[in-house]
Amino acid sequence: MRVSKWRSGVIEIVPYSPGKPVEEVERELGIKAIKLASNENPFGPSPVVQKQIKQAVRELSIYPDGSCYRLRQKLAKKLGCDPEQLIVGNGSNELLILLGMAVLNKGDQVLSSEMSFVVYPKVAQVMQADFRTVPMKKYTFDLKALHAAITRKTKLIFIANPNNPTGTALAPADLESFVKKVPEDCLIVLDEAYFEYTDRAFKTASAEWVKRYPNVAVLRTFSKAYGLAGLRLGYGIVSPELMRAIDRVREPFNVNSLAQVAGLAAFEDQAYMKKCVRETKKERKRVAKELEKMGLTVIPSQTNFLFVDLNARKTTLPWSGAAFFEALMKKGVIIRPMPGSFVRITLGLEKENNKMLKNIETLIKS
Ligand SMILES: *Cc1c(COP(=O)(O)O)cnc(C)c1O
Repeated sequence: MRVSKWRSGVIEIVPYSPGKPVEEVERELGIKAIKLASNENPFGPSPVVQKQIKQAVRELSIYPDGSCYRLRQKLAKKLGCDPEQLIVGNGSNELLILLGMAVLNKGDQVLSSEMSFVVYPKVAQVMQADFRTVPMKKYTFDLKALHAAITRKTKLIFIANPNNPTGTALAPADLESFVKKVPEDCLIVLDEAYFEYTDRAFKTASAEWVKRYPNVAVLRTFSKAYGLAGLRLGYGIVSPELMRAIDRVREPFNVNSLAQVAGLAAFEDQAYMKKCVRETKKERKRVAKELEKMGLTVIPSQTNFLFVDLNARKTTLPWSGAAFFEALMKKGVIIRPMPGSFVRITLGLEKENNKMLKNIETLIKS
């Protein structure tokens, strides 16, 4: 008898829940809503990107450049690495899967932290590998515990730095000493989706690290600071050896032509990206202060979102993240519920943040 119709492990995977689109909430509740739930750039893409895309539309009948030649040249120059070390993907999410496909065998172990990016366990499950986590330490990856958890079977370690959903970042020196201690046959993936939002003290010299430690892979994305989440574009800095392996498993035209054009234009317009980051950091400071004033605890963030503990100081009603999310949604503000008493709030435009703050204040006073 056939045991299962599906590849084993597939049905155990928890589907990603993207949250409701703004339009649906507006229709259901008959109110205007804002979404501060997916860590997108509220300023939108650079005007240069918009112009370039309009021109590129004319060539949509042609397959894209399967090697992303121009984008890789550009990135390599800026990052000080070899184009042969750069892999481009349909979002960094695709690169996470490709890395898994390139290194994992059934039964290998994948290591990460609890309360980290939801995609990591998926990669392990799809590859029939065994996903293990260690507890966090002060909302950050506990590198000591992570090191202690490495076994002979550990093949891949995922570190989100800064971390999603907690927003915390690791000190580069601590991370580098961890990297040095990890066995060379175990791949360390540094997922730096929020790199652009980190303060100087938390900026890793990761392109250099990849040269020194070939078992390090660094992932970055155009989805956050560059405002291109809808186009799906991410890149990885990897050893040439790993690059050749990933190249074998990726589909030939994994990055569409509009994404390539947009990525090039967005990367050239560093001034626009930096302006977005500056504004968001200003709001990060202001909004955190306002939430703290209301008696909530905000975990110090190195990203474009805040991780908030609703009950840490026991000054408010005992909210669960889920109940708080529901109540706030009814007021037209969509955030992201987290387990326990936590919520994650993306920093939006000043006006949106003010609407969010006002409604949170009303909620916790009611
Ligand atoms: C948003 C995010 C990404 C980016 O994913 P894309 O596929 O590039 O949009 C990757 N890792 C983490 C931890 C993130 O929060």
